[in-house]
Formats: sequence, C-alpha cells, structure tokens
Amino acid sequence: MALTDLRDVALQEMTTMLAEAGEPAFRATQLCHWVYKRQAISLEQMTDLPEALRQRLGAQCYVSTLTPLRQQLSADGTEKVLFRLEDGNQIETVLIPAEDKRTICVSTQVGCAIGCRFCLTAQGGLVRSLRPAEIISQVLHFQAPGKTPERAFTNIVFMGMGEPLDNFAGTVQAIRTLTAEWGLGISPRRITVSTSGLVRRLEAFGREDLKVNLAVSLNATTDAVRTAIMPINKPYPIAMLLASCRAFPLAMRQRITFEYVLLREVNDTLADAKRLVRLMEGLRCKINLLPFNEIPGVPYRRPSDDTVQQFQQYLAQHGLSAFVRQSRGRDISAACGQLRFEEHATPRLTDPAHHATMPAALGAQGEHVGETAEAAATRHEGGR
Ligand code: SF4
Repeated sequence: MALTDLRDVALQEMTTMLAEAGEPAFRATQLCHWVYKRQAISLEQMTDLPEALRQRLGAQCYVSTLTPLRQQLSADGTEKVLFRLEDGNQIETVLIPAEDKRTICVSTQVGCAIGCRFCLTAQGGLVRSLRPAEIISQVLHFQAPGKTPERAFTNIVFMGMGEPLDNFAGTVQAIRTLTAEWGLGISPRRITVSTSGLVRRLEAFGREDLKVNLAVSLNATTDAVRTAIMPINKPYPIAMLLASCRAFPLAMRQRITFEYVLLREVNDTLADAKRLVRLMEGLRCKINLLPFNEIPGVPYRRPSDDTVQQFQQYLAQHGLSAFVRQSRGRDISAACGQLRFEEHATPRLTDPAHHATMPAALGAQGEHVGETAEAAATRHEGGR
C-alpha cells in the first residue's frame, strides 16, 4: 500500500483519517502543527503524539521533502534552487529579493504543455503536474522552522515552471494549505497565481474563492499575434479571455495584473499600445511590461529601451497603471521564461558534490512531451 504524504492532506481529511483510527479531532491539529509550523519530517519527531499512534501512522503516512540539488545566487541577490522530486524529476524555484519584498516563484508542473513560443520551459513539453506537497515544500524550503513566513519571504507567485491552472487541483489545494491557519497561515493577498489564459479553468478558479491575486499573461493585442506566440489563444481568444477576467471575483481595491512580454517588432508598436488601452477598458487592472530576455534557441528579440519607455508612457498617459519590470536573476537563468528542461540531468542526481553548487538543469521527458497547446487545452477542459 502506498504511503500517504501528510503534506498532501488537508486538516479535514486528517481529522477523518484519525477519527477512523479512534483518535480525537485535536490530534489532527497537532499533526498539522508538526508538519507545517515545526516542519517535522518524521513521525518520530512528533513527540507529543502517543508512541502507539506514531507507530500506527508510520505504517500509513510519511512527510515528503524536496532534495535540493543545486543552488545558484545571482549578482542581484536572486536565488534559484534546483530540486529533485521523489520520482527523480526535477523542478526549479526562485527567490527574488527586492527592497521591500522577498518573493518566492514556485513551479506547479514538471515542464509545461502550453507551448508559449518565447518560453524555454515550453520546449520540453509537460512531464507531469506536481502534488500539493511538492508545491508547498518549495515554500517550506525557504522558511526555517519556527520562523513566521514573513521573516523568510513576503510574497509567493505561482509563475515558475508550468501552468498553475493546468494543475488545477494541486494548485488549489496547495493554496488552501498555504493560507489556512492550520497550515502556513500566509495571507492570500501575498499570493499571486499567473495563468496563460485557460478560460474555463479561470472561471472555475474564481469560484474557489481563494482571495489570491490573479495575473494573466496577455502579451499581444490581436488574436493573430497572440496565437502566433501563445497557441493557447486559438481555443481561448483575447475577447473570451478578457470577458472571463471581467467576471473574475475581485475584492475591493484588488486588480488583475496583465503581464505583457515586449518582443521587438512583434507586439511593441504604438498601435499595440493603443489597442491595449482599448482592451483594458472597464477592467480593474495594472500592466506589467517585461522587456524580453533574449535566450538562445528562442527567435525573439528585446525591444530598445526607448521603445519600452514610449510604450509604457502611452499606457500611463491613457490612464493605465503600467510598470516596466526588469527581470531578476538573468545571469543564472532564473528570469521569466528561462526555467527549463535539460535532458541529461539524471547522472547528477546522486552526486552530493552538486549540492549547493551551480547551474540549472531540469527533468526527464515524459508522456505529454510534444503535445500541442490545442490538445492541451482540450485536455485542460476535459478534466473538469
Ligand atoms: S510561459 Fe508559462 S504557460 Fe507559457 S509555456 Fe512557459 S511555463 Fe508554460
């Protein structure tokens, strides 16, 4: 019988599991306290649980951890960690320090099926989605036991490898655990989930009422251009995507962030800026402009600084909150779109010399490799 990973189990399920074993409900709270507040990684550490209970649980449960294989530190302070998962696959997580924030960028999948043309992660296809435990453990890695989350990091963005809404159940459960009092107790206002625009999933995500922030990767102002750079636009064109954004439940003063990667002579013209202003009409939003990070193997170029500035100014002059975001961690390939696969990482897995050393390499190939975004979209919707 496969063991249950306690980091995959919510308080309610834990309570049920323990009640079936004749244990009172407060034992579930105790277990959660050990797993999330004390970060215990073995039942033996949970010393205020009766020995007999620990032994019974030990036959059914365990606590998973991620194995850090390599850690890279950028000149700008950005930290990227390569983790090995239990099945040997690998993911990357990035910690981005800024003056007033320390943001963890978590992965939700090994690879990605969405196929954005400007993204390295897309090139390996999707291997598999992460379990909630594997998402939560990325956060716990940056939080020393006993410290409040705010001491270690201030914000979490679901913007690493993978499309969070393509791993709908994993993402939703991870957020519930991250925000619950019995879990990590992190304010949902400090969490942002970024999507490429899986419209049906976005609507379902709104119904989950998680109160987290939403970011949408828009990147174009016409369907022709967006489909060319983001094939997911074909099943979910811009008008459909923005209609679901308009219907997305927002709290007072909450805004949707639209991410716009500026690609030279693709989506960076004044005509694009004008269309973007019109598209955003009636939306409570802000725009993050991300000048493209040129990457070998990806056929796009970064616009000039003047072009970026003119684009931003046009948006600002026409009433939009628009900010130019310079990528962090470019020297360690930790910037947007730079998290990627490297096929021959496996021999390094058992080599302790690679712990806390250098560059990134990701996962093995799997069953969804080569899947088109349209097929992926069909699968995304079919799953619900
Ligand atoms: S940009 Fe995001 S959604 Fe698009 S392929 Fe890359 S990881 Fe997937």
